[in-house]
Amino acid sequence: MENIREKLAELKNKYREIYGNEAEASVFAPGRVNLIGEHTDYNGGYVFPCALSYGTFALGRKRGDRKIRMYSDNVTRLGIMESSLDDLKAYENDHFTGYVKGVIWAAEEAGFVCSTGMDILIWGDVPNGSGLSSSAALEVSIGLLIKTMFSFDAMTQPQIALLSQKAENDFMGMQCGIMDQFISAMGKDGHALLLNTGTLQYQHIPLEISGAEFVIVNSCVKHSLVGSAYNDRRNECETALRLIREAMQDGRIAMPASGKLPEGLCELTPAEFEAAAGVLQDQILYARAKHAVYENDRTIRAAEALSHGDTELFGKLMRESHASMRDLYEVSCEEMDILTDIANAKDYVLGARMTGGGFGGCSVNLIRKGYAEQFRKEVGEEYTAKTGKKPLFYAGIPCEGARRV
Ligand code: ADP
Ligand code: MG
Repeated sequence: MENIREKLAELKNKYREIYGNEAEASVFAPGRVNLIGEHTDYNGGYVFPCALSYGTFALGRKRGDRKIRMYSDNVTRLGIMESSLDDLKAYENDHFTGYVKGVIWAAEEAGFVCSTGMDILIWGDVPNGSGLSSSAALEVSIGLLIKTMFSFDAMTQPQIALLSQKAENDFMGMQCGIMDQFISAMGKDGHALLLNTGTLQYQHIPLEISGAEFVIVNSCVKHSLVGSAYNDRRNECETALRLIREAMQDGRIAMPASGKLPEGLCELTPAEFEAAAGVLQDQILYARAKHAVYENDRTIRAAEALSHGDTELFGKLMRESHASMRDLYEVSCEEMDILTDIANAKDYVLGARMTGGGFGGCSVNLIRKGYAEQFRKEVGEEYTAKTGKKPLFYAGIPCEGARRV
């Protein structure tokens, strides 16, 4: 967001125009970029995201009845969409209102019951479906909006994240992990967030990178594989974990140092995994599990490196992460490999990798300070020459998480 205040003033006017009333609450929740730690979040591992300056505004006002009216200034053709507190169910033609109703429903399940209906207006500048999590930004903005409007004082930011994830999992039917919602709710200006997705313990790590900066590149491709491949990978990891646990239970392989059966693959160290790998006869299962375990280890080391400004090591781990997603987890795609290869070949680029679930979307790049312009020009031109696509560039991380505005 270039200028939050200006945009907010514009949206307040819009609200008045659409609903004929003043908004009584307004919030902003950011999208996110994951610096490293991909596909670890449903394996009980670490992720290392930070919040973007791009995000979603939600403005609202309580009503005297039980109607929920929703308007997205990004999808004006839909007009005002209407539902009711008495009909918090998912329908085929919900479009974005599924996320809104889903969060209201999940809040209600947790005991935060909205006492009246409401008129909501949203607008965001996170590109949809590009791996920067516009869906989490939308969900978290709605969570914070209802907390604000209905004075749900006991609703904490981590809880908003959990409610939002529940909305996405159980209302929208997308089995995402907790990362996206958690960073959107819990981001901190100038910091990335090291989150243990198994325990939800977290640590804000200051980004002490005076000599370097992160730049995000949108490949502007999205292959339709995303949903099905995501579920396949989850199933493969579950199977690998089950085989390892069974072998540990009947003594064929040693228990991990913790003395407890692992609840997720990422609880295993690389050494423990290699000792257990014999039970994964299927090469695909072995490769998937190996990615999860080593990516988790890289994430811990990367956060450690960044916390004392070791951008060289961070960049190296980013490159290894991309190679692992490409070769072991097989969630990259041709355009994304081209994009990261172009970047990684530049001497002013410390590291480049795909970020997000895969099969397109965005790359995240750590580059030396002062080269942003050159990076845009060179990477932009070379990528277009090789793919015919025009990439988009984003900067300005890391920012604050969801907040009232
Ligand atoms: P991602 O989270 O990677 O951006 P998703 O497919 O998970 O991609 O979420 C994108 C969906 O979120 C869109 O199709 C749309 O339904 C919804 N969405 C997000 N932000 C908005 C918005 N500002 N207005 C309307 N719909 C939105
Ligand atoms: Mg999403």
